Amino acid sequence: MSSMTEFADTVSRRRTFAIIAHPDAGKTTLTEKLLLFGGAIQLAGAVKARGDARRARSDWMKVEKERGISVTVSVMTFDYENRTFNLLDTPGHEDFSEDTYRTLTAVDSAVMVIDAAKGIEEQTRKLFEVCRLRNVPIITFINKMDREARDPFELLSQIEDELQLHVTPASWPIGMGPGFLGCYDLMKDRLVLMPKSRSSLAGETTTCDGLDDPKIDQLLPSHAAAELREQVEMARGLMPEFDLEMYREGHLTPVYFGSAVNSFGVRELLDGLAELAPPPRPQPAVGRNIDPLEDKVSGFVFKIQANMDPKHRDRIAFFRLASGHFKRGMKLKHVRTDKQVNLHNPLLFLAQDREIAEEAVAGDIIGIPNHGNLRIGDALTEGEPIQFTGIPSFAPEMLQRVRPEDPMKAKHLGAALIQLAEEGAARVFKPNLDSGWIVGVVGVLQFDVLADRIRTEYGIPVKFEQTQYITARWIESDDPVLLKKFRDANGSTLAEDHDGDPVFLARNNWHLDTAIEQNPKLRFLKTKEKL
Ligand code: GDP
Repeated sequence: MSSMTEFADTVSRRRTFAIIAHPDAGKTTLTEKLLLFGGAIQLAGAVKARGDARRARSDWMKVEKERGISVTVSVMTFDYENRTFNLLDTPGHEDFSEDTYRTLTAVDSAVMVIDAAKGIEEQTRKLFEVCRLRNVPIITFINKMDREARDPFELLSQIEDELQLHVTPASWPIGMGPGFLGCYDLMKDRLVLMPKSRSSLAGETTTCDGLDDPKIDQLLPSHAAAELREQVEMARGLMPEFDLEMYREGHLTPVYFGSAVNSFGVRELLDGLAELAPPPRPQPAVGRNIDPLEDKVSGFVFKIQANMDPKHRDRIAFFRLASGHFKRGMKLKHVRTDKQVNLHNPLLFLAQDREIAEEAVAGDIIGIPNHGNLRIGDALTEGEPIQFTGIPSFAPEMLQRVRPEDPMKAKHLGAALIQLAEEGAARVFKPNLDSGWIVGVVGVLQFDVLADRIRTEYGIPVKFEQTQYITARWIESDDPVLLKKFRDANGSTLAEDHDGDPVFLARNNWHLDTAIEQNPKLRFLKTKEKL
């Protein structure tokens, strides 16, 4: 990249996004098809092969294998229509962990996949709420139209009512189930019909001169053509026109209908992402937002993946660039510790192209191998002490006591737990009046993953046991005397997290509510936002 305009152009062509969906809605199928259209199927293969090698070496991945779920988050990059897409995978199982949430802090937009027969499901709703916190723009893909589906109007009004989003159909389905013929692309005025065989990639496309075009009557049975015209007219009367600004502010979602397994509707979705989805957005930080076109490199760690090889305490920090033009070999300032980090060996997920692989811009993700010095939320910059905001850690909803099977290993366990907490794999609390440790997670599966990791990575077999606590709150006050008074009076239900910050452990809702009521000058925080 030689000039400023070239740099700006490169940044403007990045699309960094995630797919949010309830399990089984078709996220994996859609991902595959996106990679296929993006011509990155070789890369997809490479990602898989790398995954397999990793799995063979790493014991803790057994949990993932046994349960048939993906616990890890990976990055997939592909090109399409002169855009570079970074697709960040979010684990889709019901028991998702904080990784899922945090991944959503590193994207600029999301695709929400909905099963046409089921409508919005629990997990979709939860993930959507996280997107809403940051006004992440959402494109909706209603999948499985080749099956018996709900009425399109019903699906659209469910999105409108339950998610409080304006809805604009971007395509309109023609029939459903075995009678699903295709869609009319309302953005580009073209009729796209289902391919005759599964092996052909794109649907057969005919550009039309609006819905009155007689071509439609030649291509569709007369009742289907009439129904299409009638329904689109009704939809246009009921729903607002597409508005780019509203979409980009997270208030409106364009909706595509399709069938991922038949590759149908995927190209239209990709066109939508290419044309509508935002390029890298400014990242919120203390004092100001960081603009992607600033010339100095900055970014933040949103995920840590540890022990890809259990023999080495290696960790990979997933780093999202917020600004600047990164080049391999750069030295960056680690803001939290004020030390230099040398980026000799950044793992580049942009592996297709050598030239791109040597450099990265805002929106790109690089993997930084390290030995535990990088933590979630950490910023790396070319000097400025930037502190990114909005990378949350969550109130643990499940708390269990962890004990080593061999009591002699208690000290060892403490060290392992602190490392895991620093990595963001769990919350770890040291109760004030107790020699043990309490671990807090947001999904029960995390306990299994942790037990497995502590055993394989640190050689300490452990047991998790029930506690009398239901949740934890970080406590803060502007008045240190009040805070100390509270801590002294509530010793038995207080703990410290791995950073030494005070935490209130609640035995039940009443216990929590009473504490909040009786201490109006204290803040009981569900999340500890990394600042
Ligand atoms: P995920 O759990 O969201 O990743 O869902 P998958 O992509 O694994 O899909 C779940 C199931 O739905 C699989 O059996 C897919 O073959 C199937 N599936 C995905 N897309 C479609 C579709 O468009 N039509 C039909 N009939 N089945 C689909």
